[in-house]
Amino acid sequence: MTDKEKRPTLEEKEILSETETKEGEAESRRNNIKSQEEDKDYEKVCYICRRPESKAGSMVSMPGGIYLCHDCMQKAFDALNQNGMDLGQIPNMPFMNLNMGELSNFLRPDMAIPKKQKIKKKSEAPKTYTIQDIPAPHVIKQRLDEFVVGQEQAKKVISVAVYNHYKRSLLSCPAKQEDEITIEKSNILMVGPTGSGKTYLVKTLAKLLDVPLAIADATSLTEAGYIGDDIESVVSKLLAAAGNDVEKAERGIIFIDEVDKIAKKQQTNARDVSGESVQQELLKLLEGSVIEVPVGSNQKNAMTPMATVNTDNILFICGGAFPELEQIIRERLQKKSSMGFGSQLKDAYETDKKLLAKVENGDLRKFGMIPEFLGRLPITVALQPLDKEFMKRILTEPKNAILKQYEKLLAYDEVKLEFDAAALDWIVEEAMKKETGARALRAILEDFMLDIMYEIPKDPNIGAVMITRPYLEKRGGPRIEMRSICPVPARTSV
Ligand code: ADP
Repeated sequence: MTDKEKRPTLEEKEILSETETKEGEAESRRNNIKSQEEDKDYEKVCYICRRPESKAGSMVSMPGGIYLCHDCMQKAFDALNQNGMDLGQIPNMPFMNLNMGELSNFLRPDMAIPKKQKIKKKSEAPKTYTIQDIPAPHVIKQRLDEFVVGQEQAKKVISVAVYNHYKRSLLSCPAKQEDEITIEKSNILMVGPTGSGKTYLVKTLAKLLDVPLAIADATSLTEAGYIGDDIESVVSKLLAAAGNDVEKAERGIIFIDEVDKIAKKQQTNARDVSGESVQQELLKLLEGSVIEVPVGSNQKNAMTPMATVNTDNILFICGGAFPELEQIIRERLQKKSSMGFGSQLKDAYETDKKLLAKVENGDLRKFGMIPEFLGRLPITVALQPLDKEFMKRILTEPKNAILKQYEKLLAYDEVKLEFDAAALDWIVEEAMKKETGARALRAILEDFMLDIMYEIPKDPNIGAVMITRPYLEKRGGPRIEMRSICPVPARTSV
């Protein structure tokens, strides 16, 4: 082929560019239609209250892909009328302070533009739950067993409590109440040392039951009107976890951690705004009441739309380490056994590792919990402190045990990861020294696995790594086995 034949003439070039522009236009038209069709499946979300169009009504479009619902728009205007024209002063309307040209502002989590949400199909009628939808206690326990090792009694008590709770919420519907018998709420109080798996148990439970979960810290709560979070903020969190779906939130679980920190303060003349008062204010939530909570925010103000949530069917689980509780139980038992036949038991309580399981309401009252609060948590579960054997099981047995997670990560590089028994002992011994329960295991593993995860993928011929005790004690390296046949091709650098 000659050069002349190859090069297009001027006329041909014009025709070519014309067809290219036509093709480009057609392509962009096709893309437009496609995005409009895709848009049909999504609904806009209000930038302020984060409610979708189906809940908040039609939206007003703003520059920068922001949408506002009519409620928030109206509240903005109302606030303007009251406060004058300083838009920056409008609470909870952060975008008003934004320089629209500065897109980096939108990267801030509190200012991020909410993504459009997939529209729920109209045909999807709200699901009505029947008794068949609630897993039986033995099924709940079996599923918990896969993830949580040991703590048999606690898992059993929780399985029954949860089963009864959801049964009660089905029966509490007025149409189903045939007699005068009302079943009381089975809120749970979980007592166990730090790192014994309280939060983990609740998280696993919520996942298995497929219900929204909110975890709140009792230490951040204060009496209404004081600095700190109001009690209602815990329900706000649950509502957010349920995607602002009130019905879903009303079937959820709220875990209030560190309740031992809201014990009545001993010998105090000042008002106990973060202790006894918080217990008092929690009463109405625990027993079930209808409360107004802000949507999309944990602070009430003129700008935030409110939702009404009934906490009657929400399962409340309170947890705490209750550090001096063992001593209180021991003293009670010793006092009892020093009289009459049981006097030989007195010394046995000194070394009893399972004292927490013998906890009674009186002990908790002595600790500083008020009787009304305890009355609304009728089920008390004690989690066992973790000993070496227990820690070793946590390390290796659960479905998503930390060791299994690392094994899986290295398996992607076709490298087998193993730990010898002495190495496991070393990890557990180190974790016990930290006194933070099973939480210490991950921290220790992460520390020494960093080098392994960094170095091993460098050499594609490594087939297996055995972590040994001398390696962990920094007296040697890990045992490495090379691949005998078919080495994996080296990674190309990026
Ligand atoms: P707590 O809330 O009691 O202070 P966590 O629930 O946060 O303790 O437990 C810390 C970690 O320890 C969890 O993330 C979990 O991985 C692990 N863990 C604790 N107990 C168990 C257990 N019985 N089975 C499996 N993992 C556990």
